[in-house]
Amino acid sequence: MSLSNDISSQLYLTNNISLLMKKTISPLIPTKFLASVILIIVNCQISTQVFAQQQEEQRCHSFEYLELMKKNNPEYAQMFEQSEIYLQNYIATHPNLGKERTVITIPVVVHLLFNPLVPRTVLSDWQITSQIDVLNEDYRRFNADKIKTPAVFQSVAADVEIEFALANRDPNGNWTNGIRRVQTSNLVFADFTSPKYTSMGGDNAWSRDNYLNLWVCELDSPLLGYSTFPSASMDETDGVVIHCKAFGRIDCNSKKYYLGRTGTHEIGHWLNLIHVWGDEDCCNADDGCDDTPLQAKPTYKCQEFPFTSLSSCNNQPCNTVGDMFMNYMDYTVDSCMNIFSNDQRTQMLAAFNSFRSSILSSQALISPTSFSNDIGITKVLFPDELIYGDSMAPVVRIHNYGTQSISSCDIYYEKDWKNYLNTFHWTGNLASDGEVDVTLPKIADSLWYNIFCAWTKDPNGTQDEDTTNDFRTRSYVVRPATEPTENNVIVYPNPSNTQITVEFKDFESLQGSYFVYNILGQRVHLKMDQISLTKYQFDFTNLPSGMYLLRFNVNGSSVTKKVIVQHEL
Ligand SMILES: [Zn+2]
Repeated sequence: MSLSNDISSQLYLTNNISLLMKKTISPLIPTKFLASVILIIVNCQISTQVFAQQQEEQRCHSFEYLELMKKNNPEYAQMFEQSEIYLQNYIATHPNLGKERTVITIPVVVHLLFNPLVPRTVLSDWQITSQIDVLNEDYRRFNADKIKTPAVFQSVAADVEIEFALANRDPNGNWTNGIRRVQTSNLVFADFTSPKYTSMGGDNAWSRDNYLNLWVCELDSPLLGYSTFPSASMDETDGVVIHCKAFGRIDCNSKKYYLGRTGTHEIGHWLNLIHVWGDEDCCNADDGCDDTPLQAKPTYKCQEFPFTSLSSCNNQPCNTVGDMFMNYMDYTVDSCMNIFSNDQRTQMLAAFNSFRSSILSSQALISPTSFSNDIGITKVLFPDELIYGDSMAPVVRIHNYGTQSISSCDIYYEKDWKNYLNTFHWTGNLASDGEVDVTLPKIADSLWYNIFCAWTKDPNGTQDEDTTNDFRTRSYVVRPATEPTENNVIVYPNPSNTQITVEFKDFESLQGSYFVYNILGQRVHLKMDQISLTKYQFDFTNLPSGMYLLRFNVNGSSVTKKVIVQHEL
């Protein structure tokens, strides 16, 4: 099947529908998948039309892949359904699932299928490790943009407590850096299976018992990725396939998908999650999670919260609070996503208590060998997720992975990749397996979302023998340090009989709230029209003449301004 060809995609869906219509559907099939099946049967015309219209944005084909695997292998379909029932029963009968807090680390092998004729398939080790950093932020809720999660969902936001690391040991017990660079003659991978087979120009999987397989390659646009589900996955094909243009978060080739969230989304499927709208656009479909509101449809691009999609069945919203379109399991662009929910965490943990349990005892992260000169960065300690001000002094933890003591190395660092390269020559004494926190000279910051990168080079003045542990990235948000004062908050005209403008001078941006009081200290509510981030207009037309106090709580500080309203000027 060609993923980019409308006609063949429609044919594929049509074939699928006939297959499903012939099939007897067991009443025991879990609602979440049954709903999706019904969607395809009932809305086949709509589905194919939507598919064609939305050619620009095909975040994920995991469900289509699942259907294809079921179609090709009826035994698999049966096995999948039974496994799903088992998983959902497991969740239902284990109410304490997830109450114990332990961090699970998943060994990852990246199969990079590159073709020199397609330059963007040739990713650096650092681009690959930046994807691991993204996963570790998103699954631990260390992502800087978590502040964008709407207040109403903050209480259900989960630290999933799953981490990811490139494997150090291959299936034969030999050392690996977890990255397999496999040259392919394929210019593009146009079907679901070929990335997973050496014989088809791809690379054979490593056992799912011990590894999460990530295949990275040129996929037929506009598809960004697809995954298998834990229920009855097959060893040879288990894992996640991601378009090279959406892998990692640096050297971005894709403007919409440059933060590595395709990986976050697809690995969500690998860990037992389905899409947040339940893969059906009627309100009776659910994703099996009580804390994600019922949602009618996938969300494309990004929306202002609250936004609620309307069901195709009755043109009504499925919830009253607003869709959780910022969930990683929706279809929004990378910069719009920032949350997994607690119930999604439970779904994922159920997978580790069943079909993915073997990975808990994987030895793949135990390195069988060490190098002599091998320095690396284990963690970016600062910037934290949220910082204030126009400059910052980063702190990184460097680790001696080699057998030799290390007395010097270079640390390169910058923000937003390629912008301002800084270097620092570290000297000291670091024994084998030792680590030390290094504060680096200050660099300038820019407001809002940034990505910090740092990497080590040349331990003891010689070449580093393993460069995959050298590079670390960290997303962070910068807020302005400017505080409101009597002088930089200007109110005019004053006195006034109608509109009063309040301007925050020298503020690049601000965040906060305001309150208006009359002379008796009573709070009054005013119509306010937002003009820009640093300029507001208040309408006093309907309030009596007199003195009022405008109190602004901004950037963590507050200021009060007096205004006189005179209707008989
Ligand atoms: Zn998906």
